[in-house]
Order: sequence, then C-alpha cells, then structure tokens
Amino acid sequence: SGNLVEVRDLKVHFPITRGVLFDRVVGQVKAVDGVDLTIPRGKTYGLVGESGCGKSTLGRALLQLTRPTGGQVNFDGVELTGLPPNRLRAMRRRMQMIFQDPMSSLDPRQNVESILVEGLQAHGIGADRAARRDIIAKTLDAVGLPKWALSRYPHEFSGGQRQRIGIARALVLGPELVVADEPVSALDVSIQAQVVNLLDELQDELGLTYLVIAHDLAVVRHISDVVGVMYLGALVEEAPSDRLYREPLHPYTRALMSAVPVPDPEVEDRRERILLAGDLPSPANPPAGCRFHTRCPWAQPTRCADERPALRPIGESRVACHWAEQIASGEIRPHKVTA
Ligand code: SF4
Ligand code: MG
Repeated sequence: SGNLVEVRDLKVHFPITRGVLFDRVVGQVKAVDGVDLTIPRGKTYGLVGESGCGKSTLGRALLQLTRPTGGQVNFDGVELTGLPPNRLRAMRRRMQMIFQDPMSSLDPRQNVESILVEGLQAHGIGADRAARRDIIAKTLDAVGLPKWALSRYPHEFSGGQRQRIGIARALVLGPELVVADEPVSALDVSIQAQVVNLLDELQDELGLTYLVIAHDLAVVRHISDVVGVMYLGALVEEAPSDRLYREPLHPYTRALMSAVPVPDPEVEDRRERILLAGDLPSPANPPAGCRFHTRCPWAQPTRCADERPALRPIGESRVACHWAEQIASGEIRPHKVTA
C-alpha cells in the first residue's frame, strides 16, 4: 500500500508499583491508550500536544524502542509488535530517531567520525574504512556540515550544528522512516527554521517518511502533510495540515491554536483567546467520559462527563468530540473566552 506505517489501537501502559520489599502493581499509566494512525510513504505526520500527553512514548513505540502493551505497528508490511529481537535489529536500520537535545544524545568523548561510524559498523554497512568514510562524508555534506567536522567533538559545535550531527547520525544508515522527537525545541528560535527547512529538503532528496513530534504547533505547521493532536494518551483531532490550522474542530486544538502568535504584525489578531482551566490531569487517573471535559470551555452536561467520544470522521478531519459540529456552527458557545 502507499502507507509506510500503519498503527492500530496502539497501547503503551506502564504499571505503577509500590512496595519496599515486594513491588505490587497499584495502577497503570496509560501513556498511549488506543491510537490509530497511518503515515503514507514520503509524507510527514506532525504529532503535537502538551508534555506528558504521550506523544514521545508513541514515537518510541512506533520504533519499538518502547514495546507496546497492545495494538499493532505495521512497517512496510511487517508487523513489528512481537517481532523477535534479531529480526527487529535488521529493521532498525530502516527506522531512525532524531532526539530533542543533541548535546545529551551525543557522546562528548567521541568525535563526529566515530559517532557516525558506530551505526555503520553495527549494521555492517560499508566494505571497509574508506567506504564508510565515503558514506559519512556524503552524509555530512547532505546535512550542511564541512569535512573538517569529522575530527571535531560535539562541544566544538553550536546547538544548530549539533542537531545537524544528530540528523547525520540518523541518516547515515539510509533509513526510510525518521521519528524526530522535538527536533528543534532545544534550539534558538532563529535556528529552528533552518533545521526544519533542512529536514524538509532532506525528505525531498532522500524520499524520507517522517513522524515529527512537537509541543509547538507552529513548528510542525509547514513541514507536515497531516497533523495529529494528542491529549492524555489519545488523538483528539487529525487533519491535513492546512485544514487543521485554518479550521480546528476540536476544542483542545482550538485552545492550542489560540496560543500560536500571528506571524504578521500588520494584521490585527482577531482570533479568540482560549484559556484552559487547570493543568493536564494525570494519565494514571484520566477523567471519565471525554478526557478533556475538566478543561473544556464548551463541555456540556452530562454527556461530556459520561461518554468517551470516538475519533470520528468529519470532512477531511477526524475529531473526538461529541459536539464538534454544533461548536463549529456557533450553536454551542464556550463558557469562558478571555479577550
Ligand atoms: Fe469538550 Fe464535550 Fe467535546 Fe469533550 S466532547 S471536547 S468536553 S465539548
Ligand atoms: Mg515535506
């Protein structure tokens, strides 16, 4: 099929244990609790949500870096969940991850060449040292780093350059899927666009498929074909990127969107400002009914507290809200909107 990745009813539940001598399980954190999504080959899926919503766990589960406790992850026709470690190892080369903080994910005692050669050796890529150097040189060039970078150490680079090293480490193996977990959130705002543009260019050149994870909607906007919004372990809305930013349908997406600054200072910002009451509830003890009902300015008695809304299609979007149509038409007004 045209989908490189198909995720079905994915669950990652972590046990909460208590005890001094003997641990006993007292509950479960449902970090990811029943997510369905597909990523077409060569496309970018942007995954956004507050920290603690489960988006990083979902990214790791997709690559089987965290093993799911339920559901399926299908990669290019291969079911990854339950795949034995030796077969998973062979798949790893095709699925790579870029991390948020390049400084903490790069070994400070290794120069760039040894950082990049490690994966090549582990996967038996390149006949000899010269062949591996050639692959590394081409990769450095692709990410916009000079040849002399080879002999330098991570601390000798700027934050943006270090993230380029992180990208090179992922790409040197020739992956098809790249999961980028907050790839620019540790960088200066002035550098963020450069790195996002680089990821976009590399995608076109190399035909890569991306899952880009961010807490900031603005970061994934231009790079994503489809954006999914997560709240407490579940998708609440998914839509083609331009559609989602033009007309968010789920109250949580609307609230996130209302916090995104308007890029043009000449244009008056007439959008509603939606302030959410309270903090993100604990994923160990999510609210019953709609998980967003404790913070939702549109929540209606008593259905929102009683019945969990399914993620259902509305036009090109999928939305998990009982009242999405009535909210869009203005028939149901928010309780509290601050100007
Ligand atoms: Fe808000 Fe109810 Fe929709 Fe949940 S189902 S998002 S509480 S209006
Ligand atoms: Mg693209």
